[in-house]
Amino acid sequence: MILESLDDFIEREVEPLEEGLGEALTNPRRGHEPNGRVTDELLNAIETVRKKSAESGFYAMNMPEEVGGGGVSTVTWYRSIKHVFSKGRGLNKYVLAGPEGPKPLLLLADARQREMYVRPLVRGEKTTAFAQTEPSVGSDSPNMKMAAERDGDEWVLNGTKQWITNGPYADFAQVFARTTPQEEAGRYGGITCFIVESDEWERGSFNNVPGQVGWQSELRFDDVRIPDDRVLGEVDNGFYAAMDFLSLGRLELGAQAVGLSDHLLALATEYARDREAFGQPIGNFQQVSSMIARGRAKQYAAETAGLRCAWLMDNDEDVVEDTSIFNWFATQSFWEVADAAVQVHGGSGLAEENPFMDHLHYARMLRIVEGTDELQLNTIAKQNGLLG
Ligand SMILES: Cc1cc2nc3c(=O)[nH]c(=O)nc-3n(C[C@H](O)[C@H](O)[C@H](O)COP(=O)(O)OP(=O)(O)OC[C@H]3O[C@@H](n4cnc5c(N)ncnc54)[C@H](O)[C@@H]3O)c2cc1C
Repeated sequence: MILESLDDFIEREVEPLEEGLGEALTNPRRGHEPNGRVTDELLNAIETVRKKSAESGFYAMNMPEEVGGGGVSTVTWYRSIKHVFSKGRGLNKYVLAGPEGPKPLLLLADARQREMYVRPLVRGEKTTAFAQTEPSVGSDSPNMKMAAERDGDEWVLNGTKQWITNGPYADFAQVFARTTPQEEAGRYGGITCFIVESDEWERGSFNNVPGQVGWQSELRFDDVRIPDDRVLGEVDNGFYAAMDFLSLGRLELGAQAVGLSDHLLALATEYARDREAFGQPIGNFQQVSSMIARGRAKQYAAETAGLRCAWLMDNDEDVVEDTSIFNWFATQSFWEVADAAVQVHGGSGLAEENPFMDHLHYARMLRIVEGTDELQLNTIAKQNGLLG
């Protein structure tokens, strides 16, 4: 029922907006200003989708009812993300909360923080960003350089974050900084998560990725003073708290990969039926049809693995290994499917006005952002008693 209502919502509210945007949406090179900033036209359309989706109860339906969410199961959330992404990467991508929206980490917020920050996010009125990566650390984020020092009854933040999704547009960010040295607190201890408002940081340069220019940037913190009531959760425990929700992030990203694979396989199949070469549809050539068949098999296996992870999460099982397996497999499979989609479309697969190369870029990115391929494989190996 939820998937059908999502279809109705997208048809009624999202598709007319997409038509109005035209090339600003379909050609990623038209969606940003020369300086990298996403155009106001596109930002406004995304805001409209987000707010309408929140009003209709979709946007943050995975968040608990106590903060205004819909309290749906992880299985439903997983299936909804997959479903929305199986329509491609138009404005439909913004119907469900992504990195700019509320995440379970924010449930650590106290009553005042919930009113000021979490509920407006759930209503789609504000957006946020998750700021952990720095110029010198990504995978090895516990080694972060950014420090918050105590001064009187405030914390003073200094450092630079990089690659922060929605950083240029967020109303506030969840910023991780070291508050106790690693020698005293251990590798994962001694890191605190602070709520920092956008007028307190300076936006550095954009970190542009082909196909989604303007969405990531540096955030610079220069003697930013933060009071105690903007610590999210416990002092020194921020990294452990974030780790508790790593599995959900991996599931969400894998769900995107599964949905987008579905989308591209549908386009490639249609093209293979229509396009003719040597007097027959190219889908009659075994080398073409097997690219699609192999992709379909991998997409099916990935989708099923994700469903199992979501079900285990709903049953409070330990899913560290499962979600790493799923994320690795789903994003690898999507990468292969996206490559096959370019190949099946021949020259038009490479053409700028078509979306296939952008999907290929996106697929490549998914193998890096929520833990790289290598980090996922390390986790799987460690869960099996290897790597020390
Ligand atoms: C589009 C995009 C959006 C992003 N959004 C955010 C965001 O919103 N918030 C945020 O905090 N960060 C964000 N990031 C950062 C992202 O999380 C990091 O890029 C990622 O964790 C990898 O870190 P790195 O780039 O520093 O690579 P590195 O960690 O330097 O890794 C470089 C290479 O070394 C390998 N490697 C590193 N350590 C090991 C190891 N122990 N064993 C084997 N191989 C290893 C890696 O797998 C990789 O191949 C984003 C990045 C991108 C590209």
